[in-house]
Amino acid sequence: MALAEETKRIAAQFEYTDDDVNKGVHEFLRQMNEGLEHDGTSMSQIPTYVTGVPNGTEKGLYLAVDLGGTNFRVCSIHLNGDTTFNLTYSKIPIPKEMMVAEQASDLFGFLAKQIELFLRTHHEDHFEAHIRRRQTVSTPEGYRDEQIFRLGFTFSFPVRQVGINKGTLMRWTKGFDIPDAVGKDVCALLQQEIDRLHLPVKVAALVNDTVGTLMARSYTSPGKTSTLLGAIFGTGTNGAYVEKVTNIKKPVEGDYDKSTGLMVINTEWGSFDNQLNVLPNTSYDIELDKKSVNPGIQIFEKRVSGMFLGEIVRLVIVDMLKKPEISLFKDENSSHNDWKSTTTIGPESGVFQQWGIDSSIMSIAAADGTPDQSSLRQELEKQLHIYAASLEDAQAFRTVANAVGRRAARLSAVALGAVVLQSGKLQEAGDDPVDIGVDGSLVEHYPFFRDMIYEALAAVDGIGPEGAKRIRIGIAKDGSGVGAALIALVAANMERKGVV
Ligand code: BGC
Ligand code: MG
Repeated sequence: MALAEETKRIAAQFEYTDDDVNKGVHEFLRQMNEGLEHDGTSMSQIPTYVTGVPNGTEKGLYLAVDLGGTNFRVCSIHLNGDTTFNLTYSKIPIPKEMMVAEQASDLFGFLAKQIELFLRTHHEDHFEAHIRRRQTVSTPEGYRDEQIFRLGFTFSFPVRQVGINKGTLMRWTKGFDIPDAVGKDVCALLQQEIDRLHLPVKVAALVNDTVGTLMARSYTSPGKTSTLLGAIFGTGTNGAYVEKVTNIKKPVEGDYDKSTGLMVINTEWGSFDNQLNVLPNTSYDIELDKKSVNPGIQIFEKRVSGMFLGEIVRLVIVDMLKKPEISLFKDENSSHNDWKSTTTIGPESGVFQQWGIDSSIMSIAAADGTPDQSSLRQELEKQLHIYAASLEDAQAFRTVANAVGRRAARLSAVALGAVVLQSGKLQEAGDDPVDIGVDGSLVEHYPFFRDMIYEALAAVDGIGPEGAKRIRIGIAKDGSGVGAALIALVAANMERKGVV
């Protein structure tokens, strides 16, 4: 069989039709509402204790840290109260061994150390003043009340939240695996390590990155419209949206501000349809899941987010390489006959290793519309040690990558479309936009990702082309940092009002 033909056959397995999109939305709505009814559902629908979104007038200096993917970020944010902010940050790649550390304290101690370094570098005055004060008060409680930084902790994993700064880790995702931390209060774990270093910092708020994105977008978004949904399409995927408290049928324990009638819900949609009622499930999806650290869960995420897309492409490519008759990346001069050595791919190539293809190459493939695919061919060589790829080879790679990327975008539209329908906002009078804040490497760097989402949204019953035009999807850059600061502020106000 010819290469082009076989490529087309495989790409077709990733087609996700308008009809599929509608079935997906229907099931998504069902699972969302099931998650609002009781615990133990595949979509967790976690109440976050955040009961409103900001309007841009909020002010103050806050600290924020973000743990959730590839990097650990520490930042301080000055909210200027006029929809603008100033942000200072440092970004530290998380050492692989920390992601699978023995003890929770290994990871959280590392994080506290980074906070100390940040304070010493960027807020030395404040830090020194604190050290001087500490010499005059002897108990931690004594100096806790002094002027200290309120910190918003963006922790982007599923957490059963029981208060604005309290929540237990339900499970790890995205390749993290420290069993010792599961079931523990992650704010307490961080506070302990902060106190061990005597830092002037109080962990004031626990924030999922999607909630941070929602808050940040609402603070900065143009016009009077408040934001409905914050979503991440990055290493992982998830969304948080504003729900009416009356729709939350399961008990919400603990204190929160009841005056708004609203509650931000962290959907944890990465685990939408773990039971595979409607999600596509190719042999490549099955294989990826089986070899992951968390088989059977985060099934939606494994078809949508950056950590997994490159791996799906890799599994397809490996499958194709094992069919010598289609001659993909074939070394015509090779006299070997095992499938690896008959290719022009260097043995050190990521093609031969799990997680070895980064989804960034998919962005390059999608962007390369040149007739000779020169930038993609260069990148295949540079990133993947694939030498002398022919034009046909590059085209085959591109077709596969685009098919996987397009399916991801259309699945993303399922989640966004369902949340929009759940809110009933399109049915409300007027033509105000329905505002959605998004962040993450995929929406930021994958070409046409948002366009493909819009195209699929227009096909959703109850949205249609007119409705899709009213949906405004905007990037919330640095969302999690600013958002965490905003929630630390909410927490401080709650403390002041005596709610918590
Ligand atoms: C986590 C979510 C997070 C998302 C995006 C998922 O793996 O479960 O809590 O919001 O990744 O970072
Ligand atoms: Mg992130």
